[in-house]
Amino acid sequence: MNDILFKTATELSGLLAQKQTSAREILTALLTRIHATDKKIGAFLSIDEADALAQADASDARRAAGTLRSPLDGVPVAIKDNIAVNGQPLSCASKMLEKFISPYDATVITNLKNAGAVVFGRLNMDEFAMGSSTENSAFQKTSNPWNLQCVPGGSSGGSAAAIAAGMTPLALGSDTGGSIRQPASFCGIAGMKPTYGNVSRYGAVAFASSLEQVGPMARCIADVALLYDTIASPDTHDSTALPGSRTKAFPSLEKLAEKKWRIGIPTELLNKKLPADVLSAVKNAAAWYESQGYEVREISLPSIDYAIPTYYVIATAEASSNLARFDGIRYTHRSARATDAIDIFAKSRGEGFGEEVKRRILLGTYVLSAGYYDAYYLRAQKLRTFIRNEFSAAFNNVDFILTPTTPETAFPKGGKRTDPLTMYLGDICTVPANLTGLPAVSFPCGFSAEGMPIGLQLIGNTLADADILGAAYAFERAHDFVSRVPAEKNFA
Ligand code: GLN
Repeated sequence: MNDILFKTATELSGLLAQKQTSAREILTALLTRIHATDKKIGAFLSIDEADALAQADASDARRAAGTLRSPLDGVPVAIKDNIAVNGQPLSCASKMLEKFISPYDATVITNLKNAGAVVFGRLNMDEFAMGSSTENSAFQKTSNPWNLQCVPGGSSGGSAAAIAAGMTPLALGSDTGGSIRQPASFCGIAGMKPTYGNVSRYGAVAFASSLEQVGPMARCIADVALLYDTIASPDTHDSTALPGSRTKAFPSLEKLAEKKWRIGIPTELLNKKLPADVLSAVKNAAAWYESQGYEVREISLPSIDYAIPTYYVIATAEASSNLARFDGIRYTHRSARATDAIDIFAKSRGEGFGEEVKRRILLGTYVLSAGYYDAYYLRAQKLRTFIRNEFSAAFNNVDFILTPTTPETAFPKGGKRTDPLTMYLGDICTVPANLTGLPAVSFPCGFSAEGMPIGLQLIGNTLADADILGAAYAFERAHDFVSRVPAEKNFA
């Protein structure tokens, strides 16, 4: 049973096809693992085991009847708690939605169910996806499986930790400013933010709508590709979802991995004071690509220095607007102390939202207010266009932009909690892809002196989702990072 836990989804799909295991056996192994280890890791907020087992049994019945829906039929996928699954909790790790049960499926969930995947579990996250450490969850802390004293990253920290600890082969996360890629990097797994509009946001609880995408997280790039192919689709429920069919990534990985691409490394990021082990892992990866016949060169993207302030103005502005719907009147927490309508609104929000969410609503309201709109919000929008133009120009000369995913490896719990600005600055490498809508993938490229994973990021041009996965796949299959997993004694 134990050998099921760290198998990739592609391997599990193969074992299922050869009738060497069943969907029920896989799910049961994972549930047993979760019971044994999640007290230490804290990745899951809840699991409806009966529902998951029924889905697994239905998949096994399809297999027996020869009516399989896809290679993912019977393979479990765990879900971040801000993505709606019909009949399941949708708390966004917030007291505001603690008792809320989703009345419908997000489009990505419909796509997974249509593919026969076993959709199970609600994964911990920073409240409303605001944060980089999962410490902003109102309910529990999640630990990094490589070192329980460290954070798993965030906001999709539950998703990354669950995969790294052998509790699920696949998970969905959401990425507004790096929330898939940064925890993937901290936990030694792979994760991707698709091109804006390639994956529907319908049923993903909105934080900053113009920046975010739902995306795949997995043990290896082939699994990321398979999961991406399954969730990406047009959607009449989401006006920002692109029309038409998507280029499938999984079937073309081998072919794309053979291409000799041009890679640019932004000088501005290398000039940041990166820790020596992160810098050398990234330089080694660049040297490896060069040795394979890729053209690698330094490029200049001076506007990167504006990315963090631009992101935090736009993200907080959109958050203040999106979170106005949580009013204590309709489906949210309602204060028992409130006396009239305005009081319900104020007290419910006061009690329901955590500190970071309140900070962002305040900031966002401020930058949108009449006296400051031009100075902050409008200026941030102009900078966003400027950054996008600079990236577009770069793609005239290179196919991918290579960076570390994060300037440092997973940090100790509590380390940055009281210092939001330092926490924000860690997003320097990830937010540009959100501001520009470009696809980006993070995958392991080394380990720090302390044995913590280091992530490499490839950013591609618009709609080059399959291409970045092909280039990541080339690196991954020439290295053995996928087989490295955290020490079992960490959870004993
Ligand atoms: N760390 C970033 C933030 O706190 C990104 C969050 C995200 O991608 N959801 O906003």
